[in-house]
Amino acid sequence: VHGLETADFDLLREQIDPLREQTLMSPGPTQVPPDVLEVLARPVLHHRAPQFRAALRGVRSGLQDIAGTENPVLLLACTGTGAMESAVVNICGPADTVLVVAAGYFGERWIELTERYGCDVVPLRYEWGGIPSAEDLDRALRARPDVKAVFLVHSETSTGVVLDLERFATVAKSADVLLVVDSVSSFAAVPIEVDEWGIDVLLSSSHKALMTPPGLAFLILSPAALEAANEALLPRFYLDWGQNLATQLGDEPETWFSPAISLVCGLEAALARIGREGLDSIYERHVQLGRRCRSGVKALGLELFSPDDDTAAVLTAVRMPPGIDSSSVVRIMHDRWGITIADGEARLKGNIVRIGHLGYVSGADVDRAVQALAGAVAEVAEVQRTEVA
Ligand SMILES: *Cc1c(COP(=O)(O)O)cnc(C)c1O
Repeated sequence: VHGLETADFDLLREQIDPLREQTLMSPGPTQVPPDVLEVLARPVLHHRAPQFRAALRGVRSGLQDIAGTENPVLLLACTGTGAMESAVVNICGPADTVLVVAAGYFGERWIELTERYGCDVVPLRYEWGGIPSAEDLDRALRARPDVKAVFLVHSETSTGVVLDLERFATVAKSADVLLVVDSVSSFAAVPIEVDEWGIDVLLSSSHKALMTPPGLAFLILSPAALEAANEALLPRFYLDWGQNLATQLGDEPETWFSPAISLVCGLEAALARIGREGLDSIYERHVQLGRRCRSGVKALGLELFSPDDDTAAVLTAVRMPPGIDSSSVVRIMHDRWGITIADGEARLKGNIVRIGHLGYVSGADVDRAVQALAGAVAEVAEVQRTEVA
């Protein structure tokens, strides 16, 4: 690590109170702002109370504004993976052909999910960390005219790659297939235009850039997606789009099951905060935080794993130098520096760390994370030197 001597780390370390709360800088869950925490602490409303219906309406229109859509929003009491599963069971039938774009852990999740439900899965696979190309999708769809739907991940949280969603949507539209987008870590962090780009299913959840705890997911569904759901043959109950939407639509929205009441109220507060900051400045802040993180990491002499450009606005993934175990770095940052970041996922575990800069994050948070990363890498290197000696 360049630029800092071991003695500097000892000094920096002493400034950190080991008992203070963690700064949560993983790419999900993310930090929850104080005004949202305050709403979460209030007494639980009844789900047919007027205040809760107002919260449902507010959340619905706030999410539509961010997505740039008039399509209906469906809320589910589950995490992002539950919304992913709902997409598969509502639009697929056994032996339907689907194409999955996969360039990391969450792309592989789409493959596993669609395979478990008996779909005939055409994978468009990249090396983890690869950047999927819309031209490849175009070619793959021409080769397989039987494909019914394309599943992809907008922001691949395991690698930091954000793909060019507009171009993928254009290709899917011209091939006349349904497009299902996992937007869990991109929603409210980078721009998305559901109606303009023609996205059939866009799904996300509460605990990434929406700054609310995990447990609330939602989908935005086009008329074509709802039509496909009417005809799809897989059985489903709790996750049935039609039955859930029938109660959630309208001016007096209700829910078929007990909703995640407190999370809906918390999300309403988070959306109000987003409204105050403004979408343009939020997107600009994410770009700036990405730049700041990359330049900090590079100044330490560490190598980036995520792309070295402004598309990497959600998180920064950093390769560990040879012999440095990322799991130890993550642990030391947590225990000694009070900053929680994430290890690599699955096959990347041990090799990279991921610093989330989505949601309620400031430039000062990024600077402290980079400083803590320097300290933790140096400490792991020092321990290893001592052990070798
Ligand atoms: C976080 C995340 C998910 C969902 O994970 P859950 O643990 O089910 O909330 C899915 N896809 C991506 C890209 C994610 O970042």
